[in-house]
Amino acid sequence: TPSGIEMATLSHAKIPTIKFTKLFINGHFVDSVSGKTFETIDPRTGEVIARIAEATKEDIDLAVKAAREAFDNGPWPRMPGVARARIMLKYADLIEENIEELAALDTIDAGKLYSGCKAGEIPQVAATLRYYAGAADKIHGETLKMSRELQGYTLMEPIGVVGHIIPWNFPSSLFFAKVSPALAVGCTMILKPAEQTPLSALFYAHLAKLAGIPDGVLNVVPGFGPTAGAAISSHMDIDAVSFTGSTEVGREVMQAAAKSNLKPVSLELGGKSPMIIFDDADVDTAAELALRGIVYNKGEICVAGSRVFVQEGIYDEFEKKLVEKAKAWVVGDPFDPEVQQGPQCDKKQFDKILSYIEHGKRQGATLLTGGKPIGDKGYYIEPTIFAYVKEDMLIARDEIFGPVMALSKFKTIEEAIKKANNTTYGLAAGIVTKNIDTANTVSRSIRAGIIWINCYFAFDKDAPYGGYKMSGFGRDYGLDALRKYLQVKSVVTPIYNSPW
Ligand code: NAD
Repeated sequence: TPSGIEMATLSHAKIPTIKFTKLFINGHFVDSVSGKTFETIDPRTGEVIARIAEATKEDIDLAVKAAREAFDNGPWPRMPGVARARIMLKYADLIEENIEELAALDTIDAGKLYSGCKAGEIPQVAATLRYYAGAADKIHGETLKMSRELQGYTLMEPIGVVGHIIPWNFPSSLFFAKVSPALAVGCTMILKPAEQTPLSALFYAHLAKLAGIPDGVLNVVPGFGPTAGAAISSHMDIDAVSFTGSTEVGREVMQAAAKSNLKPVSLELGGKSPMIIFDDADVDTAAELALRGIVYNKGEICVAGSRVFVQEGIYDEFEKKLVEKAKAWVVGDPFDPEVQQGPQCDKKQFDKILSYIEHGKRQGATLLTGGKPIGDKGYYIEPTIFAYVKEDMLIARDEIFGPVMALSKFKTIEEAIKKANNTTYGLAAGIVTKNIDTANTVSRSIRAGIIWINCYFAFDKDAPYGGYKMSGFGRDYGLDALRKYLQVKSVVTPIYNSPW
């Protein structure tokens, strides 16, 4: 049985004092123009943690004005890359000095595992900053081979004022996936965290100031999507928008950009990623990988391996092991080091997942394990596995964003590829096999931006990350991410003083 939530809550609660609750604009924490605030909730209990200043259009205007001034006249875009790098490295050090507090903030705000934040996510954001700091003085254009008597070269210029809009499932990683490359190239920016998870973002704003990032370069404006978010995507003075979130909202962001100043957008959206397990796999390892693929971060991850296809030769044994492992998976207070899965991020997400589980049952999928909430407070849900899921069922098509797996069987490699590609999404895919030909064939046949062979969630800041199809376009991470924050300018001059 899952660990006792009541007990875990009592013995492991370490709610940090909330120090930052205001908007961070032009280097200062300020109240919102309207004076409005909103509540941020602890998903372990459903209780209010703090009230946060709520940005609306007027505040976004102020933040954009500060970022514009910092871009047009401030030192950040003009300083040598190595000077920006030095500040970014200091920023990374400050994050490491505050790991425990930052990890606790994401745990109480998003229900994430404290141990995972402390040992994984927060150290990784420091690593991400350092990675892009290393790029800051190596961004340059090319000399062009011109066909006439001309000399041509390109300049890589920062695109200008960037608007970042991020969701709540990885409040720290996504903050730095967006901010680090944009800082490296010399952009200035406004970041809107998700309304569910403003706490660590405001702490990062404070650390940015301590690190020496000039005022106006990085503005952090918590608020809601239709107001603060829409004010960013439709702003006439923002030069690019980098969005992570749902496909539905991504479409709205793109429309708003088109209707305003035609700013380029990059969209990291939803997924319904397949994991394909072939007969030659080690069954125990594959079952472990598949389970982790759907319960990691409580399934609230866009690359969750939510559709699992298993070849018929090992199917029965696989199913048995998977169910055993799911039943032993420990759900409970995310501060408890023994716990493997915390609560869903909020009530809305909790209700949405439970309603998909009901759909699965009603549409005739076989519920192998799970399916129920746990405890009487907070938003905990059992790891849930449905078998004999048909391709047209809602639980096989929609992104659930929770610990709910759709399991099915296949016979041939062709069938597996066809089924895996039968989705409007194209974010990630997993392949488990010892056969190199199978791995190569499948990885080239799946239309998705990230392929993991004999692993899953093998994230690394070095590898570009993003989608095909309705999972969006543009890449975070890797050197590719720098591109969305750069403009290419061609400069051409006659070689001889000829009149062109
Ligand atoms: P969401 O799209 O509702 O919200 C994401 C962000 O957009 C939030 O900050 C929200 O306030 C803002 N927003 C909402 N409406 C807006 C509008 N009209 N204009 C501008 N901004 C608006 O998504 P969510 O429910 O917070 O997050 C879950 C979704 O995000 C899932 O579908 C998941 O797959 C996706 N996601 C994708 C990735 C990725 O890298 N591809 C990563 C994490 C999450």
